[in-house]
Amino acid sequence: MSAFIAIRIDEDEAGYRAAYLEMDESELMDGDVDVAVTHSAVNYKDGLAVTGKAPVVRRFPMIPGVDFAGVVTRSSHPNFAPGDLVIAGGCGLGEQHYGGFAQRARVSGDWLIPLPEGLTPAQAMAIGSAGYTAMLCVMALEGRGLEPSRGPVVVTGAAGGVGSVAVALLAALGWRVVASTGRPEEEAYLKTLGAAEIVDRAELSIPGKPLQKQRFAGGVDTVGSVTLANVLAQTSIDGVVAACGNAQGMELPTTVAPFILRGVSLIGVESVRPNLPLRRRGWERLARDLDKGILARMTQTAPFAQALDHARSIVAGKIRGRLVIEIGDSRSVG
Ligand code: NDP
Repeated sequence: MSAFIAIRIDEDEAGYRAAYLEMDESELMDGDVDVAVTHSAVNYKDGLAVTGKAPVVRRFPMIPGVDFAGVVTRSSHPNFAPGDLVIAGGCGLGEQHYGGFAQRARVSGDWLIPLPEGLTPAQAMAIGSAGYTAMLCVMALEGRGLEPSRGPVVVTGAAGGVGSVAVALLAALGWRVVASTGRPEEEAYLKTLGAAEIVDRAELSIPGKPLQKQRFAGGVDTVGSVTLANVLAQTSIDGVVAACGNAQGMELPTTVAPFILRGVSLIGVESVRPNLPLRRRGWERLARDLDKGILARMTQTAPFAQALDHARSIVAGKIRGRLVIEIGDSRSVG
């Protein structure tokens, strides 16, 4: 079969639009490995891509989807052979190279890693780029020597995808986790992931002083903007904050005070580049440290036919935790 169904984003005189359509494998971009995609996931960035709310897509047309899992069907790459189960994420997928919202993908084998042992393709996508980013944030805190004995850590955007995995990972590693959310109705959910305390995100999202009462040993921030400024202001001496997101905004209205008066470290986390050794380490940790029962609790699953609607919902903050898309070989998508 050379025809397959994909979501495609186009931008031309008719405007910016995303729609399901049938494509042919001959239209795929260059790569030395072909994959029959079985699962993808909806990430915030996919929402930005399909709605055009931020310039995520670097070339048109584009198949969105920053993640996929699937089965190799053709390979001229030394590390992969037909039948291998693989995962991919970041590396420009869905931004400058056709991504995972399609039944077929053709990519560089250098962007793929074998499905980590102990994970199904569906579980790997439940983790996805969001979970991998959360893991990198946790590794950033650990890399600066931060330990649970130093006090609580805050996770902002806690009910989102990155936030949910960060809460679960940090709690499993022995941290007292303070989850900041704008959805108080998700308190019970966040507590099942391991959060010890919930704070209303309004407490952190309105402008405050550059130095405030020291509350946290560190944090994982998925929100940016005023929220990150307040997290820095409330981080104790020698604390560490890992910043990976911008759900509230790109700006960072703070001063140097937390850095020069309290020795706070702000570490940027970027999960897109194809850094294979780091990817392998991160995924090994995820397979080991993330409880599969908790992963199931933060995950919903939807058919490919609903991927576009869900991608539109995520930018409105309406998706809790992680949303896996079953792609399979279904050709019933209209
Ligand atoms: P989600 O939409 O699943 O989560 C984002 C969460 O942020 C929401 O659930 C909500 O949490 C909170 N939020 C949304 N809008 C606002 C707002 N205006 N003010 C304060 N909080 C808000 O997205 P993901 O988890 O997929 O991604 C989170 C962020 O991380 C995004 O900015 C994304 O671009 C970024 N990211 C960065 C990566 C990197 O490599 N650096 C990789 C992956 C993601 P709640 O409802 O709990 O308040």
